[in-house]
Amino acid sequence: MAGVNFPFVIGNWKMNLTPYESETVAKKIVAGLPPEGLPIEIGICPSYPAMERVQRVIAKTSITLGSQNMFWKEDGSYTGEVSVRMLKDMGCHYVIIGHSERRIHLRETDYEVNKKIRLALQYGLVPILCVGEKFEERQDGKRDVVIMEEVANALKGVDKFSQLIIAYEPVWVIGRGEAIEPNEACSAIGLIRYTLKDIYPQKTIDDKIKLLYGGSIDDKNITDFVDNEEINGVLVGGSSLKPEVYIGMINNLAKHVS
Ligand code: PEP
Repeated sequence: MAGVNFPFVIGNWKMNLTPYESETVAKKIVAGLPPEGLPIEIGICPSYPAMERVQRVIAKTSITLGSQNMFWKEDGSYTGEVSVRMLKDMGCHYVIIGHSERRIHLRETDYEVNKKIRLALQYGLVPILCVGEKFEERQDGKRDVVIMEEVANALKGVDKFSQLIIAYEPVWVIGRGEAIEPNEACSAIGLIRYTLKDIYPQKTIDDKIKLLYGGSIDDKNITDFVDNEEINGVLVGGSSLKPEVYIGMINNLAKHVS
C-alpha cells in the first residue's frame, strides 16, 4: 500500500461484474499500471463473490482490496450477510460503509452505519464512510445539516482508529456523468472537517482522516478535484469499471502529483 499522505483513488464496482468479468477487468487494470511505484494509494471494491479472484490478481501490486459493505454483527444467524471476519480473511483492507445506494434501497440507517464502523475498526479494517445529500434535500437548503448529522451520527463512540476515510458523495450526482464544481465539493468537505473538530483533536483529523469526493469522476476531471488541498482523493463508481478510464485517472493523477 502507498504512503498515508498519497492521494487515494478507490473504485466501487457495485453489483456489476461477474467473478470472471471482475478478474478480467482487474487484470487489465494491473497490466495498465506503470511497473514503478506510484505516489497514489489505489483500491478496488469488487462484489463479494469476485473478491477472491480479484485479490489473486492484485496480490503483488500496489492495489488494495476493499469491500462494498459488511454486516454489523460479528457472527451468527444472519442469512445472506457477510461478516467483518470473512472480509479480513479475504484480504480486505477497506470497507465502504453507508453508501447512499444502501441507505436508499436497503433502508440502511445511521444507527447501523455507526455499528458497522465500530466493528470494522475493532477488526482493523479501514472504513470509508459515505455521506451526502439527496437532490430534494439540497433544494430545501438542507445540504449542510444532512452532512453534519450523517457524520456525527456515524462517528458516535468512535474514538480509537489509525485511519478513517470519509467520502462526500452528493447523491444526485452519482452516476450522472457530470460532477459538481470542485469548489462546491471543497465547501462540503470543509464542512465535514468543521464537524470533525467537535469530535476529534486537530492532529487526529490531520494525521488519520482522509476526506474524499465521489460523484461522476473520470479521467478528465479527477485532477480538478484532487488539486485542492481539501480533497484527499476520490471514490469512483462507473469509471472504475472501465479499465482504460481507471488507468487514465490514475496516470493523470500520477503526472499531476509527481
Ligand atoms: C459512487 O457510487 O460512489 C460513485 C461515485 O459513482 P459514480 O462515480 O458512477 O458517480
